[in-house]
Amino acid sequence: MISEIISVGTELCAGVTLDTNSAWLAQGLAGVGFETRRHITVGDIREDIAEAILAASKRADVVLVTGGLGPTEDDLTREGLADAMGVALVRDTAALSRLKGFFAERHLKWVEANERQAFHPVGTALLENDWGTAPGIRAPLNRARVYCLPGVPREMRLMFEERVVPDIQAHGGWPVARRLYVRALHCFGAGEAKIGDAVADLMQPGRPLTVGITASEGIITLRFFAWSASEAEADAVISRDIAEVRSRIGRLIFGEGEATLASTVGELLVGLSSTVATAESCTGGLVARMITDVPGSSRYFLRGLIPYANEAKVDLLNIEPELLARHGAVSEAVAVAMANQCRIRAGSSYAVSITGIAGPGGGTEEKPVGLVYIAVAGPRCQAARKLLYGSHLSREDIRIRSSLAALNLLRLTLLDDLPGL
Ligand code: AMP
Ligand code: MG
Repeated sequence: MISEIISVGTELCAGVTLDTNSAWLAQGLAGVGFETRRHITVGDIREDIAEAILAASKRADVVLVTGGLGPTEDDLTREGLADAMGVALVRDTAALSRLKGFFAERHLKWVEANERQAFHPVGTALLENDWGTAPGIRAPLNRARVYCLPGVPREMRLMFEERVVPDIQAHGGWPVARRLYVRALHCFGAGEAKIGDAVADLMQPGRPLTVGITASEGIITLRFFAWSASEAEADAVISRDIAEVRSRIGRLIFGEGEATLASTVGELLVGLSSTVATAESCTGGLVARMITDVPGSSRYFLRGLIPYANEAKVDLLNIEPELLARHGAVSEAVAVAMANQCRIRAGSSYAVSITGIAGPGGGTEEKPVGLVYIAVAGPRCQAARKLLYGSHLSREDIRIRSSLAALNLLRLTLLDDLPGL
């Protein structure tokens, strides 16, 4: 079954208010067997509302409209719906007395404009609102059942759950045959295009599941969407794809579902009965923060140092002043020395270090903004990487990405140290 969602509000179009209703409704619809194909946002303009409802009603089995049902002149969803249906508005006497009762009960002064909320297009039904004033509207139009819901998120949610879902199930005759199941794989260490290339054939239309890619702060997420009658059936379809993807880009994948780089590293450390410490310059403790965001990280995280100034690198980590003078603080040699010293001082199995230029100032031709060195020291080996982010990234982005890259380097080192490899 196909659904579409229309949000109405000039504030939404202008970007002043974030449209959270549509996201919530799409998930709610998926839970009762509907695949939402379009989200449409229109301003408080009568013709635009009418046009959007009319077009959607020809494509979808259910159209949900949110917003524009209030008492003011800019609330035009009722009029838009009436225009789309080619009918007039009528006043519902029962709804009017309910509205007046709502005001009287709360000792609120009745304002004439509220009467607008008792109107609805001929041939439609009102959905009672037990949580606010504006009733919803249910209308048959073309192939669709159209439901208009209030814009206030709480009222919208309750009306969807208490009125729309039972109505769909009772009147639509649409048993929940299939539901949307989603699983996600998270990758780090290659760009979106490269990962997209590796799975291009799995993203072709016409397969029993849909594969989508998103990217955020260097983390590439592959999502597998399957419409299935049961979790077991969805799992069978999705697991086949996941196994295939793992065989293609195994080491790039760090986790599934709620996993983060930090939680993955934590699990590996626990598996190896090992501990870790951090020494961070340009990230100011961000790696330590990410590691300790994970509940239970006290099992493996020993300490985090922030040797920001050169003197601190000497003081806290015993870095040779001569090494700093020869290579500069932002160098592979210093990153490696920081990791080694941190590991020794903390008495940890592993240590992670970061030194770089997060900008926006402080770059030179030789050492530009976005140049970061990360290093990992472990019981068996040490590893270092030079990262070049470019000055187009913000300070915050450079700090987040280099922290994630450092966690990823630790992850790869831990994988190499797993017994049997
Ligand atoms: P309305 O039903 O248009 O009077 O909307 C009432 C209020 O609900 C608006 O002022 C917004 O703050 C909020 N609202 C309306 N539509 C949405 C939406 N799609 N997402 C989030 N908030 C909304
Ligand atoms: Mg509005």
